[in-house]
Amino acid sequence: MTREPEGPHRLAPGTVAVTAGRPAHTPDNPLNPPLVLASTYAAGGDLEYGRYGNPVWQAFEDTLAALEGGGRALVFSSGMAAATALLELVPDGGRLVAPRHAYLGVLAIVADAAARGRVHSDVVDVADTAMIERSCVGTDVLWLESPTNPALEVADLPAACATAHANGALAIVDNTFATPLLQRPLDLGADIVLHSATKYLAGHSDVQLGAVVTRDDELYERLEAHRRKTGAIAGPFETWLALRGLRTLHLRVERAQANAATLAERLAAHPAVVRVRYPGLPDDPGHARAAAQMKGFGAIISIELADAAAADAFTHELSLWVNSTSLGGVESTLERRRRWPGEPHTIPEGLLRMSVGVEDVEDLWADLEQALP
Ligand SMILES: *Cc1c(COP(=O)(O)O)cnc(C)c1O
Repeated sequence: MTREPEGPHRLAPGTVAVTAGRPAHTPDNPLNPPLVLASTYAAGGDLEYGRYGNPVWQAFEDTLAALEGGGRALVFSSGMAAATALLELVPDGGRLVAPRHAYLGVLAIVADAAARGRVHSDVVDVADTAMIERSCVGTDVLWLESPTNPALEVADLPAACATAHANGALAIVDNTFATPLLQRPLDLGADIVLHSATKYLAGHSDVQLGAVVTRDDELYERLEAHRRKTGAIAGPFETWLALRGLRTLHLRVERAQANAATLAERLAAHPAVVRVRYPGLPDDPGHARAAAQMKGFGAIISIELADAAAADAFTHELSLWVNSTSLGGVESTLERRRRWPGEPHTIPEGLLRMSVGVEDVEDLWADLEQALP
C-alpha cells in the first residue's frame, strides 16, 4: 500500500483522499485495491479468516486514518456496530457521559445499557462546557458529538477532551457530521473518533458502514478484538464502495458546504423560517467555537418551521429535495426529526434536518422557495 511520504512536506487532505490506500505503482498492479471476496485464506499469514481481516478493509482503514491525521482505523458493518464496540469500553457498572442530543441510535444503546444496569449514564448539553466539567467527575467515558445531530450544537472539543482526561476518562468524538476534512478530533485531544461511514465518507446513499480511528494501540487492540469476536464486520464490497466514495470526499464536501452556506443565509432571511441552526452563520451560538476548531462549517442545516404540520406540508411540496432519513449523500435530503418517536422531546416538532447535496445551489433554492409557506 502507498503511504504518505515521510518528511517535511505533508500532503494536503484532498491528495490523501485520492492517493492513500492504493497498491504500489509497480507494472501491471491495478490502481485500485482489488475487491477480495474471501471467507478464508491459505493458513500461515496475517489474515487467516474472513472475520479477522480483508485487504479492502486495510485500504479503507489506511485512507481514513491518514485523513484523520494519523492513527489506525477499524471498519465496521455500520456506524451503530462501531458505536456498540465503543460502548463496550465502559466497564461493567462504569459511568458514561453522553450528549442529550445526538444520533438517535447512540442515545438508544446508551439508554438500553443504563436501563439494565450495565452502565450509569449522565446526559449533557455538549455546548455547555461547565456542565461537562461537573458531569465528568468519576466518569469512565465522555461521549461527544459535534456538531450534534440534529440540533447542530457545537462542543468545545479541546476543553471537553481535556476535562475527560483530567478525570481519567476516555474522550470519544462522533465526527460523522464534520468529516476528517473539516475537523480532526484526535488533534483536538480525543482518544477515539467514530464515523457513520454510511454518510459523507461513502457519500452516495448506497452503503451502510461504520469506522473508528485511534492513535492508542491498546484501544485499537481492544476494538479489533471486539470486531473479530462479535463479527460486526463490514462486507468487502461495501467497504470497496466506501473507499471509492472517499476518493471524492473533498470535492463533495467543498461543494455541499458552499451550497449550505448560501442556503443557510437565505433561509435565515425567510419569514416562514422560525430558526436556522448552521454553525457557519455569524450569529449562530456555535459559530466562534466551530471557527476555532473546524476548517469549515459542513453541509447540514437545521431549520424550524412553525410546527409539525407546517414542516410536513413543506416536505411534501418539495420535488428536488427528498424527504428521507440519513444524510451526507450527493443528493439533498431532509426530514422532520420528530417523526421518529425516539427523538428527544427537546428537539422542536417543526425542526427539519437538511443534508445539503452537491446539486446546483440555485435549483436547490428554487425548490425550497416554492415550497415554503
Ligand atoms: C447515522 C449516524 C450514526 C449511525 O450510523 P449507521 O451507519 O446508520 O449505523 C451515528 N452517528 C451519527 C452522527 C449519524 O449521523
